[in-house]
Amino acid sequence: MTLDLSDVTLTYPDGDARLTALNGVSLSVPPGTVTAVIGPSGSGKSSLLAVAATLIRPDRGRVVVAGVDTGGLDRAGAAALRRARIGIVFQQPNLIASLTAAEQLQVMAHLAGRPVRPARARAERLLATVGLAGQVDRRPHQLSGGQRQRVTIARALMNDPAVLLVDEPTSALDHDRGAAVLDLLVELTRERGTATVLVTHDRGHLDRADRVVEMVDGRLAVSTG
Ligand code: ADP
Ligand code: MG
Repeated sequence: MTLDLSDVTLTYPDGDARLTALNGVSLSVPPGTVTAVIGPSGSGKSSLLAVAATLIRPDRGRVVVAGVDTGGLDRAGAAALRRARIGIVFQQPNLIASLTAAEQLQVMAHLAGRPVRPARARAERLLATVGLAGQVDRRPHQLSGGQRQRVTIARALMNDPAVLLVDEPTSALDHDRGAAVLDLLVELTRERGTATVLVTHDRGHLDRADRVVEMVDGRLAVSTG
């Protein structure tokens, strides 16, 4: 499996106590497949992605990304693994206001220590893949909400990640645009062989996923969708 979480427990400080956000969660995602995660607000979906992304270290349990047991990594090691192997799309398109669409992608190559010149061509190809061939030199304020979300998806793919983590990508979009973004994510997952985890509240689109799991109170249950 490309992404393996086993028996992961995560707590946050909560006054004098601890709040359990993830409670013994296990999840394995094969390459080239999409696992959709549904569940009510506050059930732990974003925490699950943060742990899978190595952004937060769990209290307990194992997180293995592309064959690397992340428990053995220090902060710098986790950051290097994240930049090289993990693509992340957050709920709100978090683009840098002063950079063009192509430059948003080139930054990722730069952060991963890759040469800038080939990165430009790759950025343009990826933007074309997500339907933004004509928008490569636009800045975020010159793009629609759906176009910005497509830039963040292309950006997440810039370093050819093994794992793609996507948090409610359609929440800022209308139904049709949301459906198009999900179709695009499924297509990219197949083409590129990423192990994709997609958090969504949009039950109407679940038939696109290979598997649907449900978070309830920090626990994971296989869902019928
Ligand atoms: P979801 O994405 O399903 O809405 P989250 O993973 O964001 O759920 O949150 C799960 C639980 O953890 C919630 O009770 C939330 O309030 C709490 N929580 C999330 N992030 C933090 C944090 N950084 N510090 C403290 N509590 C948090
Ligand atoms: Mg969330």
